[in-house]
Amino acid sequence: LVSIGDEALIALETIAGRAAGIFAPNVRVGVTGLSRAGKTVFITALVHNLLHGGRLPLFDLVHSSRLSSAALEPQPDDGVPRFAYESHVRDLVEKRVWPESTRAISELRLTVEYESASGWNRLLSGGRLHIDIVDYPGEWLLDLPLLGQSFDEFSAKAVALAQAGSRAALAAQFLTLAREADPEAPADEKFAAELSDAYKKYLQAGRDDGLALSTLPPGRFLMPGDLDGSPALTFAPLVQRASRARSGSLQAMMERRFESYKALVVKPFFKEHITRLDRQIVLIDAMHAMNAGPEAVHDLERALGDILACFRPGAGNVITGLWQRTIDRLLIAATKADHLHHEDHARMEAIVRRLVRGAVQKAGSAGASVETMAIAAVRATREATVMDNGERLPVIVGTPVAGEKIGEATFDGESETAIFPGDLPRDPDSIFKPGTIPTDEANRFVRFRPPRLEKSAKGVQLSLPHIRLDKALQFLLGDRLT
Ligand code: GDP
Repeated sequence: LVSIGDEALIALETIAGRAAGIFAPNVRVGVTGLSRAGKTVFITALVHNLLHGGRLPLFDLVHSSRLSSAALEPQPDDGVPRFAYESHVRDLVEKRVWPESTRAISELRLTVEYESASGWNRLLSGGRLHIDIVDYPGEWLLDLPLLGQSFDEFSAKAVALAQAGSRAALAAQFLTLAREADPEAPADEKFAAELSDAYKKYLQAGRDDGLALSTLPPGRFLMPGDLDGSPALTFAPLVQRASRARSGSLQAMMERRFESYKALVVKPFFKEHITRLDRQIVLIDAMHAMNAGPEAVHDLERALGDILACFRPGAGNVITGLWQRTIDRLLIAATKADHLHHEDHARMEAIVRRLVRGAVQKAGSAGASVETMAIAAVRATREATVMDNGERLPVIVGTPVAGEKIGEATFDGESETAIFPGDLPRDPDSIFKPGTIPTDEANRFVRFRPPRLEKSAKGVQLSLPHIRLDKALQFLLGDRLT
């Protein structure tokens, strides 16, 4: 009897368990994007819509009335923080403020019960699916190339970039300090921290100082998670490097910390989280980059290339051997489409396609199907038209966040206003040329408050309005819920 083998027994038990609906299958969906791309808002809106019977006509499960129930359940990974869904909903729906953004990895399990159209699925899953949503900073993905680099290669690349374009001014303080740093001098903790801080300040300035540069590795320098201040995060690239680091020298210290960063931070993150994903959505804030000008757009394109390379198990991917599952669907979505009039949505989608064209071409036949969309996880505006000198102008109407300014006016967070959102270029290539998109203060995007949800006549809480969230859901999950 023993010869049946444990594996066969486990297989039999699994089939029996599934038939009884005990072992519902799960699908792990990664949600990422650079800081403030809209990850927190996307996950909160997605779950809220599924829990509260949202309007999701493009999501077949809902459209065909097969969704029996949706509920949050304890997540499978005990070592990962839970996504703070309830407090985010309180912010969005009750307080009408945007929730706190993603700072580290978190997870949430949503279990749906549904009527399966296919008898086979019914037998295997009992019509249940656990959707494990994993939220993590896109900055962390930018670390993947580091795994294939030595400290010397990392330093050479990082220093070259710090000297290029508008980065040079931001990196001035770091570069001065780094040029002076003698690689052979005895390792000094205080100096290491000073140099590392100067490097982090430069990365931060690139992201925040109106330049909207998509950041560079090391990803934890801006999004440290719980590792802030640890030696593995206290290093920096060096301008001068000896061909061999002398033991006890500054260079030896930096090299060791760089190797620790890879071994203790980067590799475990990829192994424990990324290689277990089945589906992935990458959110981007394309408008933010375009408003900052062509350099930011180029930078976003480069960062997207690096991010998408992480999901391509195969030739050239340094984590190929680690994959436990394969991402077979990858969605790249520009969020905040509610800042545009719908007449511009198709142009926005063309821009997203253009931004990822190179990266997707490189991925070649890696097997995943890739889709691009323009969506708004939460729709904070509605559309209207105003007449201006006999001309019909499409506008968007919303409540600007308190303190937002348009021209002379400062908003109080209560009153509505109509805004002409401006047109996106017809030719997506022109986003790389200066002058196509106005980058001046007057054309800066106005931030709107989340929308007010009225209760229906029966007192039922309504769900959050959105733009094409259902289309995104259908692409990410539709085939697992047939
Ligand atoms: P994260 O850093 O990726 O988690 O980004 P968040 O989800 O916190 O989003 C950052 C900010 O972008 C929010 O505070 C909102 O101001 C804005 N935002 C995100 N999603 C939307 C959306 O769908 N519509 C609108 N109007 N604003 C959004």
